Amino acid sequence: MRVIITGAASGIGRAVAELLAAESNSHQMLLSDRDAEGLASVAAVLGASAGTCVADLSSVDCGDMIVAAALAHMGGIDAVVSNAGIIAGAPLVDQTVDLFDRIYAINTRATWLLAKAVHPYLAASSGAFVATASMSATQPTPGLGFYSSSKAALLMLVRQLSLEWGPDGIRCNTVSPGPTYTPMTQAGYADPDRRAAREAMIPLRKLGTAEDVANAILFLIGPQASHITGIDMLVDGGMSNNLMPAT
Ligand code: NAD
Repeated sequence: MRVIITGAASGIGRAVAELLAAESNSHQMLLSDRDAEGLASVAAVLGASAGTCVADLSSVDCGDMIVAAALAHMGGIDAVVSNAGIIAGAPLVDQTVDLFDRIYAINTRATWLLAKAVHPYLAASSGAFVATASMSATQPTPGLGFYSSSKAALLMLVRQLSLEWGPDGIRCNTVSPGPTYTPMTQAGYADPDRRAAREAMIPLRKLGTAEDVANAILFLIGPQASHITGIDMLVDGGMSNNLMPAT
Protein backbone atom coordinates (compact mmCIF):
# COMPACT_ATOMS: atom_id res chain seq x y z
CA MET A 1 0.00 0.00 0.00
CA ARG A 2 1.21 3.54 -0.85
CA VAL A 3 0.07 5.86 1.95
CA ILE A 4 0.21 9.62 2.64
CA ILE A 5 0.21 10.51 6.36
CA THR A 6 -0.02 14.09 7.65
CA GLY A 7 1.03 14.99 11.18
CA ALA A 8 3.50 12.11 10.86
CA ALA A 9 6.21 13.62 13.08
CA SER A 10 4.37 12.96 16.33
CA GLY A 11 1.64 11.13 18.21
CA ILE A 12 -1.05 9.36 16.21
CA GLY A 13 0.45 10.07 12.76
CA ARG A 14 3.80 8.72 13.83
CA ALA A 15 2.13 5.60 15.25
CA VAL A 16 0.31 5.02 11.93
CA ALA A 17 3.65 5.14 10.12
CA GLU A 18 5.32 2.78 12.60
CA LEU A 19 2.45 0.27 12.58
CA LEU A 20 2.34 0.27 8.78
CA ALA A 21 6.09 -0.37 8.64
CA ALA A 22 5.71 -3.22 11.14
CA GLU A 23 2.77 -4.70 9.18
CA SER A 24 4.64 -5.12 5.90
CA ASN A 25 7.90 -4.01 4.35
CA SER A 26 6.05 -3.64 1.05
CA HIS A 27 4.15 -0.57 2.32
CA GLN A 28 5.48 2.76 1.11
CA MET A 29 4.76 6.04 2.85
CA LEU A 30 4.95 9.76 2.25
CA LEU A 31 5.21 11.37 5.67
CA SER A 32 4.28 15.04 5.97
CA ASP A 33 4.49 17.54 8.81
CA ARG A 34 5.55 21.14 9.41
CA ASP A 35 8.10 19.88 11.97
CA ALA A 36 11.12 19.12 9.75
CA GLU A 37 13.29 17.76 12.56
CA GLY A 38 10.61 15.44 13.96
CA LEU A 39 9.79 14.21 10.48
CA ALA A 40 13.42 13.42 9.73
CA SER A 41 13.77 11.43 12.93
CA VAL A 42 10.68 9.29 12.17
CA ALA A 43 11.80 8.75 8.57
CA ALA A 44 15.31 7.75 9.71
CA VAL A 45 13.85 4.92 11.81
CA LEU A 46 11.59 3.72 8.98
CA GLY A 47 14.24 3.73 6.24
CA ALA A 48 13.82 3.87 2.46
CA SER A 49 10.09 3.07 2.46
CA ALA A 50 9.39 6.51 3.96
CA GLY A 51 9.65 9.71 1.93
CA THR A 52 9.08 13.08 3.55
CA CYS A 53 7.45 16.39 2.68
CA VAL A 54 7.77 19.34 5.04
CA ALA A 55 4.57 21.32 4.53
CA ASP A 56 2.53 23.73 6.61
CA LEU A 57 -1.13 22.78 6.34
CA SER A 58 -2.20 26.38 6.84
CA SER A 59 -0.89 27.18 3.35
CA VAL A 60 -3.27 26.97 0.39
CA ASP A 61 -0.85 24.93 -1.72
CA CYS A 62 -0.26 22.23 0.93
CA GLY A 63 -2.42 19.63 -0.86
CA ASP A 64 -0.65 20.01 -4.20
CA MET A 65 2.77 19.97 -2.51
CA ILE A 66 2.09 16.79 -0.55
CA VAL A 67 0.54 14.92 -3.47
CA ALA A 68 3.43 15.89 -5.79
CA ALA A 69 5.92 14.62 -3.21
CA ALA A 70 3.93 11.39 -2.79
CA LEU A 71 3.86 10.74 -6.54
CA ALA A 72 7.59 11.41 -6.79
CA HIS A 73 8.31 8.96 -3.96
CA MET A 74 5.75 6.20 -4.61
CA GLY A 75 4.46 6.62 -8.19
CA GLY A 76 0.83 6.38 -7.06
CA ILE A 77 -1.38 6.68 -3.96
CA ASP A 78 -3.62 4.02 -2.38
CA ALA A 79 -4.53 5.73 0.89
CA VAL A 80 -4.47 9.09 2.64
CA VAL A 81 -4.42 9.62 6.40
CA SER A 82 -5.26 13.30 6.90
CA ASN A 83 -4.38 13.38 10.55
CA ALA A 84 -2.62 16.60 11.58
CA GLY A 85 -4.53 18.99 13.79
CA ILE A 86 -4.10 21.65 16.43
CA ILE A 87 -5.95 22.34 19.63
CA ALA A 88 -6.55 25.68 21.33
CA GLY A 89 -8.97 26.67 23.97
CA ALA A 90 -10.63 29.68 25.54
CA PRO A 91 -14.23 30.82 25.85
CA LEU A 92 -15.56 31.58 22.35
CA VAL A 93 -16.18 35.26 22.99
CA ASP A 94 -12.51 35.75 23.96
CA GLN A 95 -11.12 34.22 20.77
CA THR A 96 -9.84 36.11 17.73
CA VAL A 97 -10.49 36.02 14.00
CA ASP A 98 -6.86 35.01 13.47
CA LEU A 99 -7.25 31.98 15.74
CA PHE A 100 -10.55 31.04 14.08
CA ASP A 101 -8.90 31.15 10.64
CA ARG A 102 -5.83 29.23 11.80
CA ILE A 103 -7.74 26.41 13.49
CA TYR A 104 -10.18 25.96 10.62
CA ALA A 105 -7.37 26.16 8.03
CA ILE A 106 -5.41 23.33 9.67
CA ASN A 107 -8.20 21.18 11.12
CA THR A 108 -10.70 21.46 8.26
CA ARG A 109 -9.53 23.25 5.09
CA ALA A 110 -6.28 21.31 4.74
CA THR A 111 -8.18 18.02 4.51
CA TRP A 112 -10.32 19.46 1.69
CA LEU A 113 -7.21 20.77 -0.12
CA LEU A 114 -5.54 17.38 0.19
CA ALA A 115 -8.73 15.66 -1.01
CA LYS A 116 -8.91 17.97 -4.07
CA ALA A 117 -5.32 17.26 -5.01
CA VAL A 118 -5.41 13.50 -4.43
CA HIS A 119 -8.78 12.60 -5.99
CA PRO A 120 -7.57 11.42 -9.43
CA TYR A 121 -4.90 9.21 -7.88
CA LEU A 122 -7.25 7.61 -5.33
CA ALA A 123 -9.78 7.05 -8.13
CA ALA A 124 -7.06 5.28 -10.14
CA SER A 125 -6.32 2.93 -7.22
CA SER A 126 -9.86 2.60 -5.75
CA GLY A 127 -8.20 3.90 -2.63
CA ALA A 128 -9.15 5.01 0.87
CA PHE A 129 -9.24 8.37 2.65
CA VAL A 130 -9.28 8.63 6.44
CA ALA A 131 -9.23 11.84 8.50
CA THR A 132 -8.65 12.14 12.23
CA ALA A 133 -11.60 14.00 13.72
CA SER A 134 -12.31 13.90 17.47
CA MET A 135 -14.88 12.84 20.02
CA SER A 136 -15.25 16.63 20.41
CA ALA A 137 -16.75 16.77 16.89
CA THR A 138 -19.99 15.35 18.25
CA GLN A 139 -19.64 16.28 21.92
CA PRO A 140 -19.34 19.97 22.84
CA THR A 141 -16.21 20.29 24.97
CA PRO A 142 -15.76 23.07 27.54
CA GLY A 143 -13.23 25.66 26.35
CA LEU A 144 -12.68 24.02 22.94
CA GLY A 145 -15.33 25.75 20.81
CA PHE A 146 -13.27 26.37 17.66
CA TYR A 147 -11.60 22.96 17.96
CA SER A 148 -14.89 21.07 18.38
CA SER A 149 -16.66 22.96 15.61
CA SER A 150 -13.73 22.64 13.18
CA LYS A 151 -13.71 18.87 13.79
CA ALA A 152 -17.51 18.71 13.34
CA ALA A 153 -17.08 20.40 9.96
CA LEU A 154 -14.31 17.91 9.13
CA LEU A 155 -16.58 15.00 9.99
CA MET A 156 -19.27 16.20 7.59
CA LEU A 157 -16.74 17.08 4.89
CA VAL A 158 -15.54 13.47 4.86
CA ARG A 159 -19.10 12.11 4.87
CA GLN A 160 -19.81 14.33 1.84
CA LEU A 161 -16.69 12.96 0.16
CA SER A 162 -17.94 9.42 0.78
CA LEU A 163 -21.06 10.24 -1.28
CA GLU A 164 -19.21 11.99 -4.07
CA TRP A 165 -16.35 9.48 -4.32
CA GLY A 166 -18.25 6.22 -3.70
CA PRO A 167 -18.91 5.72 -7.43
CA ASP A 168 -15.14 6.00 -8.00
CA GLY A 169 -14.59 3.14 -5.55
CA ILE A 170 -12.95 5.43 -2.97
CA ARG A 171 -13.86 4.85 0.69
CA CYS A 172 -13.87 7.88 3.03
CA ASN A 173 -14.11 7.62 6.81
CA THR A 174 -13.11 9.41 10.00
CA VAL A 175 -11.62 8.17 13.24
CA SER A 176 -12.57 10.11 16.37
CA PRO A 177 -10.22 9.70 19.31
CA GLY A 178 -11.36 10.41 22.83
CA PRO A 179 -8.72 11.51 25.37
CA THR A 180 -5.46 10.07 24.06
CA TYR A 181 -2.00 10.37 25.60
CA THR A 182 0.19 12.02 22.93
CA PRO A 183 2.53 15.04 22.81
CA MET A 184 -0.59 17.15 22.11
CA THR A 185 -2.13 16.31 25.46
CA GLN A 186 0.60 14.98 27.74
CA ALA A 187 1.28 18.28 29.52
CA GLY A 188 -2.39 18.41 30.47
CA TYR A 189 -2.13 14.96 32.06
CA ALA A 190 1.11 15.61 33.96
CA ASP A 191 -0.91 16.28 37.10
CA PRO A 192 -1.85 12.78 38.40
CA ASP A 193 -5.10 14.01 39.97
CA ARG A 194 -6.22 15.58 36.70
CA ARG A 195 -5.33 12.41 34.81
CA ALA A 196 -7.15 10.22 37.32
CA ALA A 197 -10.24 12.43 37.11
CA ARG A 198 -10.27 12.10 33.32
CA GLU A 199 -9.68 8.34 33.45
CA ALA A 200 -12.58 7.97 35.88
CA MET A 201 -14.86 9.31 33.11
CA ILE A 202 -13.72 6.61 30.68
CA PRO A 203 -15.46 3.21 31.05
CA LEU A 204 -12.18 1.40 30.20
CA ARG A 205 -10.54 3.56 32.92
CA LYS A 206 -7.48 4.60 30.91
CA LEU A 207 -6.46 7.19 28.35
CA GLY A 208 -6.11 5.97 24.79
CA THR A 209 -2.68 5.55 23.25
CA ALA A 210 -1.52 6.74 19.84
CA GLU A 211 -1.38 3.06 18.82
CA ASP A 212 -5.03 2.49 19.85
CA VAL A 213 -6.09 5.19 17.39
CA ALA A 214 -3.56 4.19 14.71
CA ASN A 215 -4.90 0.61 14.72
CA ALA A 216 -8.39 1.90 13.88
CA ILE A 217 -6.92 4.01 11.06
CA LEU A 218 -5.04 0.99 9.68
CA PHE A 219 -8.27 -1.01 9.72
CA LEU A 220 -10.17 1.70 7.83
CA ILE A 221 -7.54 2.16 5.11
CA GLY A 222 -7.02 -1.59 4.79
CA PRO A 223 -8.78 -4.36 2.84
CA GLN A 224 -10.77 -5.58 5.85
CA ALA A 225 -12.85 -2.38 5.66
CA SER A 226 -13.62 -2.94 1.96
CA HIS A 227 -17.37 -2.14 2.25
CA ILE A 228 -17.15 0.57 4.92
CA THR A 229 -17.50 4.19 3.87
CA GLY A 230 -18.98 7.34 5.38
CA ILE A 231 -18.58 6.26 9.00
CA ASP A 232 -16.98 7.85 12.04
CA MET A 233 -15.19 5.32 14.25
CA LEU A 234 -14.93 6.43 17.88
CA VAL A 235 -11.80 5.29 19.72
CA ASP A 236 -12.67 6.71 23.12
CA GLY A 237 -12.68 3.84 25.63
CA GLY A 238 -16.46 4.24 25.74
CA MET A 239 -16.33 7.77 27.12
CA SER A 240 -19.02 9.16 24.82
CA ASN A 241 -21.51 6.70 26.36
CA ASN A 242 -20.71 7.85 29.87
CA LEU A 243 -21.80 11.45 30.09
CA MET A 244 -24.48 11.12 32.76
CA PRO A 245 -23.35 11.45 36.38
CA ALA A 246 -23.81 8.36 38.55
CA THR A 247 -27.07 8.36 40.54
P1 NAD B 1 0.44 15.68 18.11
O1 NAD B 1 0.52 17.11 18.50
O2 NAD B 1 1.25 14.67 18.81
O3 NAD B 1 0.68 15.53 16.56
C1 NAD B 1 0.14 16.45 15.63
C2 NAD B 1 1.12 16.66 14.50
O4 NAD B 1 0.53 17.58 13.58
C3 NAD B 1 2.46 17.26 14.97
O5 NAD B 1 3.55 16.52 14.45
C4 NAD B 1 2.42 18.68 14.41
O6 NAD B 1 3.71 19.18 14.05
C5 NAD B 1 1.53 18.48 13.17
N1 NAD B 1 0.95 19.76 12.75
C6 NAD B 1 0.29 20.66 13.54
N2 NAD B 1 0.00 21.75 12.82
C7 NAD B 1 0.47 21.55 11.57
C8 NAD B 1 0.50 22.33 10.39
N3 NAD B 1 0.00 23.58 10.37
N4 NAD B 1 1.07 21.82 9.28
C9 NAD B 1 1.59 20.57 9.31
N5 NAD B 1 1.63 19.80 10.40
C10 NAD B 1 1.07 20.27 11.52
O7 NAD B 1 -1.12 15.33 18.27
P2 NAD B 1 -1.95 13.97 18.15
O8 NAD B 1 -2.60 13.75 19.46
O9 NAD B 1 -1.16 12.88 17.51
O10 NAD B 1 -3.08 14.49 17.16
C11 NAD B 1 -3.33 13.91 15.88
C12 NAD B 1 -4.78 14.20 15.52
O11 NAD B 1 -5.64 13.59 16.48
C13 NAD B 1 -5.13 15.69 15.52
O12 NAD B 1 -5.95 15.99 14.41
C14 NAD B 1 -5.92 15.86 16.81
O13 NAD B 1 -6.84 16.92 16.75
C15 NAD B 1 -6.61 14.52 16.90
N6 NAD B 1 -7.10 14.18 18.24
C16 NAD B 1 -6.22 13.98 19.25
C17 NAD B 1 -6.71 13.69 20.54
C18 NAD B 1 -5.80 13.47 21.71
O14 NAD B 1 -6.33 13.34 22.85
N7 NAD B 1 -4.48 13.41 21.53
C19 NAD B 1 -8.10 13.57 20.74
C20 NAD B 1 -8.95 13.77 19.68
C21 NAD B 1 -8.43 14.07 18.42
